[in-house]
Amino acid sequence: MARRYVLIGTGPASISAAETIRSLDADASIVAVGAERYGYYSRPGLAYFLAKEIDERGLFPVARHEFARLRIEFVNERASRIDPAAHVVTLEDGRQLPYDRLLIATGSWAIPVDVPGADLDGVTKLDDMHDAHDLIRRSGKAKAAVVVGGGITALEIVEGLCARKVTVHYLMRKDRFWGNVLSESESSIVEEGLRARGVRIHHFTEFAQVVGRDGKVAAVQTRDGETIPCDLVAVAIGVLPQKALAEAAGLPCGRGVLVDEHLRTSDPDIFAAGDIAEVADPVTGRGTVEVLWNSAVVKGRVAGHNMASEHVIAYDPGAPLNVTRLAGFKITIMGTVGTGKDSDVQGIVRGDSETWRESGDASVVETQIGDAHVRLALGERTIVGAVVMGDQALSFPLQELIAARADAPGLVADLKAPGAPVAELIERFWRDWKVSSA
Ligand SMILES: Cc1cc2nc3c(=O)[nH]c(=O)nc-3n(C[C@H](O)[C@H](O)[C@H](O)COP(=O)(O)OP(=O)(O)OC[C@H]3O[C@@H](n4cnc5c(N)ncnc54)[C@H](O)[C@@H]3O)c2cc1C
Repeated sequence: MARRYVLIGTGPASISAAETIRSLDADASIVAVGAERYGYYSRPGLAYFLAKEIDERGLFPVARHEFARLRIEFVNERASRIDPAAHVVTLEDGRQLPYDRLLIATGSWAIPVDVPGADLDGVTKLDDMHDAHDLIRRSGKAKAAVVVGGGITALEIVEGLCARKVTVHYLMRKDRFWGNVLSESESSIVEEGLRARGVRIHHFTEFAQVVGRDGKVAAVQTRDGETIPCDLVAVAIGVLPQKALAEAAGLPCGRGVLVDEHLRTSDPDIFAAGDIAEVADPVTGRGTVEVLWNSAVVKGRVAGHNMASEHVIAYDPGAPLNVTRLAGFKITIMGTVGTGKDSDVQGIVRGDSETWRESGDASVVETQIGDAHVRLALGERTIVGAVVMGDQALSFPLQELIAARADAPGLVADLKAPGAPVAELIERFWRDWKVSSA
């Protein structure tokens, strides 16, 4: 009998798992259960949709007929229960789906703010397509908005609302934007970019309550007693992996669903991938959560492979990477680049990896090269992380050297020298390294 695979979620982790399963098992029955009627679309693309840079069609990377080729059956319903002993998933409408192998890829969801007035009409977030439509609809009438939180999503909401001619007040608890990943100079480049777009930045400002009128948002009151009139409040203080279903099924969970490097949970027939998976390091046992699109794709592939094949492969988180845009600046973040704590963020934010928070005892070289602002985190023999803002010429060489953990003690020593020609050194080393490792 054909093997039955059930995948919960229709995000990148599930879809890449389905592709891999189909490539290994032509006869398999693959059912993907998704709570969203939109199916598979680009969540990072929602920011560009909100900012009017792409239309809704641009959010769908795969045409429906391409899914037909994979023979995946999509079920638009919420999964409400997993029974690991019976190997059955129950849906909210009562249907039951038996499985031989199950993937949990339910993603992560915004942490709600816990202040008086948080339930008023006009307090919003940006998790999914529904939220993007809601923000667009509300921005048509709103004059002013308050955005609270740190990291990429908060900024994307700020920029999207600006593009829709809403006056935006951006509240930060401390002195700068995304302080646990960006350096002081990088934060200030981003903030300058925001000011140039007319954003009103309020540093050292804590959100105390949302004030309502007739059940709708009318203002935000800060801890210092300032009142900021607004029609909209958007919150992006961090996300939580959606682990309730797994927890109720008795699967061990930490911040996410705990999995080994093969992305298998404590149950040999149940796997987890994407934002939900907290992957244990095989040596230290320490779990890492990543809320990155590309990591979700790779985890989905590894989980799909291990679900369908007897020859298991391991997930190597390598050097997590994000290429995004903040306040108009293209930015690539790779490897371990952490700088400390960020009190605007609870746990983890979207487009973020816990690996970035680490800096270990790396030395830092930060420099401006033409239109690029470059920061390198240097270990003893390797470049362990980097942030490139603006001109991206160095981004690809750095990605390759960091991902491969290229042994480069001479380069590292040269880069640390005062006034070192950073771009030339990296480009020259990278070219030679490519030739020698070909
Ligand atoms: C606004 C925004 C901006 C982002 N920007 C970036 C970025 O710049 N760079 C980057 O790398 N990443 C970014 N991300 C994060 C990236 O989109 C996620 O890491 C990625 O989508 C995770 O994939 P996933 O498959 O784990 O889960 P998701 O894509 O979250 O999909 C999970 C799906 O499971 C469904 N689901 C949940 N529970 C159930 C249930 N019980 N039954 C059925 N279905 C269920 C959900 O409805 C959802 O459709 C961003 C995300 C957002 C929202």
